[in-house]
Amino acid sequence: MDKPGLSETEPEQPLGAERPLPLSLALPAQAPEGFRSGFVALIGRPNVGKSTLLNHLVGEKVAITSPVAQTTRNRLRAILTTPSAQLVLLDTPGIHKPHHLLGERLVKSARSAIGEVDVVLLLVDGSEPAGRGDGFIVELLRFCRAPVLVALNKNDLVDPLRAAELEASYRELLLFSDQRADPTDPGQRRSDWPLLACSASTGEGCPELVEALAARLPLGPHLYPPDAVSDQPEQLLLAELIREQVLTLTREEVPHSVAVQVERIVEDGKRIAVLATVLVERSSQKGILIGKRGQMLKEIGSGARAQMQKVFDGPVYLELFVKVVPNWRRNPARLAELGYRGE
Ligand code: GDP
Ligand code: MG
Repeated sequence: MDKPGLSETEPEQPLGAERPLPLSLALPAQAPEGFRSGFVALIGRPNVGKSTLLNHLVGEKVAITSPVAQTTRNRLRAILTTPSAQLVLLDTPGIHKPHHLLGERLVKSARSAIGEVDVVLLLVDGSEPAGRGDGFIVELLRFCRAPVLVALNKNDLVDPLRAAELEASYRELLLFSDQRADPTDPGQRRSDWPLLACSASTGEGCPELVEALAARLPLGPHLYPPDAVSDQPEQLLLAELIREQVLTLTREEVPHSVAVQVERIVEDGKRIAVLATVLVERSSQKGILIGKRGQMLKEIGSGARAQMQKVFDGPVYLELFVKVVPNWRRNPARLAELGYRGE
């Protein structure tokens, strides 16, 4: 890995914080008595409506649904603040039976999300009867310690005459999963999980869903400023600022398909440290990006850093790497480097 000396000084703290801190430096409001806050993992097969629900809940478009967004390292956090609670929602890549290695890593990342949260929201397409894909996820959630809520989404598509039958298919799935479980299985009784119908499109059932999730969060203060809706746009913005410099300074020598991945943002109170990787496909492109004795990368970095300092109105430490990543989607070592860790 190339590491041209871009930083003016080394950060005082290693870039080791587990969770990137919110970038907004505004102090959270004083939370009222009984306020609850915590993390909610949104789990479900692709296309059940996870992103739509996130966008509806926070009332703004925060979830990006393109396949490219799925390859970003960080799970999207959407933040929903009500008068009595703050929910930090993690949009995980859809769980599905993995088709290739990237798929497997995405599943693992979703599984690790399950271990970090206070509540799991299992979203299913309630306009269809329960299927094998849902069963697969129910099994995955077996050892999850957090409470699980099942939301039957797309209720707007359900003929009221069929609603009971569809719901019953999900109840059966949970019951079946319990019956198949090893009696010594310390996992949760899945048939105890509450089912709630909702529609991410019309909003029907969503306030009840939020209330049910909030009730399962621990007591605690705001984790993010009350007006924050996501921590992702800032990350995307930073990546775009770097990409902009690449396009401006290298012009047509490097294709516009260069990807920038902001790996980590750490705010240590004095400044913001940003660690990012510019991905290219061929070593000739890498050569252009780095330039003679790292001159080009230095220029890209200092241009981007200047922009970032304007955004944050404060000092930024930027560390940039360039990587040639041919066929990275199928390469385990590359996936790991890009943040799709195996655990
Ligand atoms: P994700 O893959 O789970 O994030 O699913 P998306 O949020 O991308 O939604 C997949 C498709 O289902 C999109 O076409 C949405 O418009 C649609 N969809 C999501 N929620 C609902 C809903 O409650 N009702 C209806 N009718 N369509 C929905
Ligand atoms: Mg989605």
